[in-house]
Amino acid sequence: MDRENPDKKKTKPKVVKGVEKPTSWNPNALNQMKAHRLKNASAEDYVKHILAGNRMWLAKAITLIESTKREDQDKAEAIINACMPHSGKSIRIGITGSPGVGKSTFVESFGMALIQKNKKIAVLAVDPSSQISKGSILGDKTRMEKLSAIPNAFIRPSPANEALGGVARKTRETIILCEAAGYEIIFVETVGVGQSEIAVHSMVDFFLLLLLPGSGDELQGIKRGIVEMADLILVNKADGANKEKAIQSQRAYKTALHLFPPKANAWIPKVQTCSAITEKGLEAVWDTIQSFENQVKINASFESKRAEQATYWMEETIKQRLGDLFYNHPKIQEVLPTLRKAVLEGKRSPFSAASHLLSLIGFDRTYGA
Ligand code: GDP
Repeated sequence: MDRENPDKKKTKPKVVKGVEKPTSWNPNALNQMKAHRLKNASAEDYVKHILAGNRMWLAKAITLIESTKREDQDKAEAIINACMPHSGKSIRIGITGSPGVGKSTFVESFGMALIQKNKKIAVLAVDPSSQISKGSILGDKTRMEKLSAIPNAFIRPSPANEALGGVARKTRETIILCEAAGYEIIFVETVGVGQSEIAVHSMVDFFLLLLLPGSGDELQGIKRGIVEMADLILVNKADGANKEKAIQSQRAYKTALHLFPPKANAWIPKVQTCSAITEKGLEAVWDTIQSFENQVKINASFESKRAEQATYWMEETIKQRLGDLFYNHPKIQEVLPTLRKAVLEGKRSPFSAASHLLSLIGFDRTYGA
């Protein structure tokens, strides 16, 4: 009883309800925690994990490269810069050929053969068409089934929703991160149509063109320029009834290659046959790549080509960034439609319209003079 206040009713002590014990873990909690940790992760965190070969962090860093957000891009740039000194120790192989020639099947079989040699391989894609079709070359999960289950293989589809310039630059940056993560052989796959071959050629050491058994005369609609870039022409599907035809094609392509001028690196392009399905001829492809690497490293063209490629990408990046800055500028966005219409209707010359637009953001002809 309360002596000082005898009238006060005796009340039961209240039990304060504590925090209820969760019945079970929220299944999303762990993922949310991980996402939170990643969002707040510094560039140094990323670099540490990438250098340790962590695929999850590598994949997330590539997502930063692909992001359109300014803060992600800044972080990506810092990561790439820090990874640069750890990159470069790979052979970069470009693969092209018309749809259906067997590129995915080849990368899967050849990749598996390299995995058996204890190599770590990365497979990237440059496919600007993916912005239209939404299905990038490597996007289809059923492709490269075996390879995608291997811890020593890293597969990444083409960045989506981008024009070729953006896709190519991002792939080039991704190569640096993959190398820093310890991938020794980097495949960059592209479809044998259009400009993407040139972009891929400018980021790889070795360029491989896949063709089907058939007549050597028409080179299967592949542009002369692409054939000229090839270090190895590989006639795929040299199996079953196609075996003989593949050998005939090989002969025809060899003759056709004689018509091309010699390469600056003194490498004489090879023509070989293989079957991505039966795996016949794959070992010989690896032999060719290795002898190429030896030769161009001895005559120093390996390093000089990479140095040239690096400056090319700097210039490409400047062009692209300038373009982005220009088109996203509010002043330009305000007047561009009117000027475009005037040019379209022939009321204003395209050159004077361009000069006017550039002068709006301080880039006139006297700029810097
Ligand atoms: P991609 O479009 O160039 O990536 O071609 P795919 O790898 O998807 O292959 C297209 C088709 O050709 C698939 O049905 C494959 O099974 C088949 N193919 C690929 N390589 C070979 C091969 O070496 N021999 C035979 N007979 N078929 C193949």
